[in-house]
Amino acid sequence: MKVYINGKLYDKSEAKISVFDHGLLYGDGVFEGIRSYNRLVFKLKEHIDRLYESAHSIMLKIPLSKKEFIEAITNTLKENKLEDAYMRVIVTRGEGDLGLDPRKCKSKESVIIIADKITLYPEKLYKEGMEIITVSTTRNAHEALNPQIKSLNYLNNIMAKIEATNSGYEEALMLNDQGYVAECTGDNIFVVRKNELYTPPECMGALNGVTRETVLDIARRLKIATHEHVFTRHELYISEECFLTGTAAEIIPVVKVDSRVIGEGKPGKMTLALMKEFKELTKKEGVRY
Ligand code: PMP
Repeated sequence: MKVYINGKLYDKSEAKISVFDHGLLYGDGVFEGIRSYNRLVFKLKEHIDRLYESAHSIMLKIPLSKKEFIEAITNTLKENKLEDAYMRVIVTRGEGDLGLDPRKCKSKESVIIIADKITLYPEKLYKEGMEIITVSTTRNAHEALNPQIKSLNYLNNIMAKIEATNSGYEEALMLNDQGYVAECTGDNIFVVRKNELYTPPECMGALNGVTRETVLDIARRLKIATHEHVFTRHELYISEECFLTGTAAEIIPVVKVDSRVIGEGKPGKMTLALMKEFKELTKKEGVRY
């Protein structure tokens, strides 16, 4: 495997950055998780736009133009001869002295692109649906660290994930500090009620997920009414269907939340229809390499 670091490709064993990089020392940086299917990078522009938005918000200068960044990604994929890949794209503040002030980073920002194979949730979960549990770790409040910024600071999500796995569940439902449904640790959440589709608005602590937006687009195309709407756990418990969305997970059905059975306890009709449409889209849309 070849890893891109600041314009050069290195063998996996040689792909290293400094222990003084502020990405490592302070989580000072931004990232994206991007997927390619059959040599097509899915929603590349959307991921790149979000990367630059996250960087802008934390006053991090990305030392490449968007066009150069896209080329770096597609070249890395070509070099790795991967037809289907999961990519981790990272930009850190770079190397600097100890102390969290970004002005201590005199070197350039570090750009890293890792192209690897994807590890999905087990196939059984896509067929039968998964169970999730609400955890007590709330999603970061936007005034503290906005969940829209996809930063290297993922401890909020990791703490929630640990809580879920400690209780024997794969995924955690995170509420915001007002107790409204926000999202899961690495996925957005949707519910179906009376054949209409609901997902929490971004201001409730949900990432503006690329898959979330894709699912909303597909639903609109299928003439399904969509709502970005505030909801509580009660509305989730009494929903007819529930699913999660994310680049890695795609669309994964949820059949139990906090031991409450959702709908008929199996992946719902609308969920299955959206999963099918999403699969189709990944086969034909994307940037070729
Ligand atoms: N929420 C969080 C916290 C995430 O980290 C992610 C991405 N892994 C998502 C939602 C899903 O976003 P996307 O569809 O853009 O992958």
